[in-house]
This record gives sequence, C-alpha cells and structure tokens, in this order.
Amino acid sequence: MSEAVSSLIIAERLQKLYSLLPEGVELVAISKFQPISSIQAAYDLGQRKFGESRVQELLEKIERLPDDIEWHFIGHLQTNKVKYIIGKTKLIQSVDSERLISILDLESRKQNVITDVLLQVHVAAEETKFGFTTDELMDFFESGKFESYNNIRICGLMAMATNTDKVEIVRNDFQTVSDLFRNIKLKYNVSSFNILSMGMSEDWPIAVEEGATLIRVGSCIFGPS
Ligand SMILES: *Cc1c(COP(=O)(O)O)cnc(C)c1O
Repeated sequence: MSEAVSSLIIAERLQKLYSLLPEGVELVAISKFQPISSIQAAYDLGQRKFGESRVQELLEKIERLPDDIEWHFIGHLQTNKVKYIIGKTKLIQSVDSERLISILDLESRKQNVITDVLLQVHVAAEETKFGFTTDELMDFFESGKFESYNNIRICGLMAMATNTDKVEIVRNDFQTVSDLFRNIKLKYNVSSFNILSMGMSEDWPIAVEEGATLIRVGSCIFGPS
C-alpha cells in the first residue's frame, strides 16, 4: 500500500480534474494499491467510479467501502478468478483474449447475470502489455463470434498508449484505437459499443482529444501507487 496522501490534496486534485474534463467524458479513479482512506476522500467529494487491477484487493475494498461505488476492473484477469468478480463489477475493462471472453460468458450464465466488458487492444510499443492486436480484434468481429455470447455485453475498447514522452507517438496510438473503435461500431453495428477507454495521468488530455469517452486516472489524484 502507498503512503496516504492527505484528503485535502486528493480533493483539490480531483476538483481540478473535474473542471478540466469535457462533458460526456467519464472519470474512473484508479485506486489500485491505494489505502481505503484515500478512496473514501475521493468518494466524499462525489467520485463514484473506481478502478482496481487485482481481484483480491478489489474484493477487500468492496467489503470495506460504500455500496454505491461502481467498480471497474482494469488488470489482467486470470480465468480461474472470473467467478469471484462477476456480478460485483460495473465494467471489466481488460478483456484480453477470446478464451477469457468465453469464460466470462459461461460464468455469467451460471450466475444469471449479464456482464459488461471492454476488449483491451494492444497498440503500445511495449511487449509486456496484454490485449488483442488490431488484426486479432478485426478477425474476432469478422468471424461473427461476438454475437454468440449471450451473457456478456461488449461495450467498447480499452487501450494504453506507449509509455513515452514523445507526444506524437502517444497521439498516434490513440488515433489507431479510435479509428478501430469507429470502424467496428459502423461495420458490425454493435449497439452496445459506446465506450472508448483511453488516457491515464500523463496522457489523458491527448486521449480526450482523440475521442476517449472514459479516462482512467490514478497517480495524479492519489499520488504514486
Ligand atoms: C494503473 C493504471 C492506470 C492509471 O495509471 P496512472 O498513470 O496512475 O494514472 C490506468 N489504466 C491501467 C490499465 C492501469 O493499470
């Protein structure tokens, strides 16, 4: 767990962010590795959407924090842990393989829920980042398989840009994802496909310029994690 930043500082940073964020862009506050007190400070200011990257940590925080929080899952999800978070998350943003899609569908059917998900696209230069490549994603939609899952709703895409201070590279990554998002929506007419999740503390203004509808911001609210 990180050193807690004072509630006052969190409130100030959050208010600043709200004032900068264009209408229609959702803010998910990424609270991974942050203490309960920091999340509570953001909650007290009205923030309701939080994102976590580890199943165990998410479950502990759900237990300890108010019920009206919308929890987003943003980390790599192992298939054997799917059953623990189904029904407890508003949106699973980091769906990075067809195998994971089919397990999410199966577990959601068992628990009689519909699970909202985003597909994670890999565009960044780093090899370590999970996600579908552009080609894999187009193949997935072209195959029509996306229509065979009755217990998941594919709500859009999530992506991270290359970790660099070269703005043009970051912008180019976001443009690639934004084009992909629009093309899929038009070509395959997926009615639920409305969320484009991109942009973090360092690059969210560029992501918003390139069409993000949801940003995931952690350290510039809570301090480093
Ligand atoms: C940690 C994380 C974020 C937030 O990153 P910050 O740089 O702290 O804003 C956003 N998205 C994902 C997928 C993350 O893992």
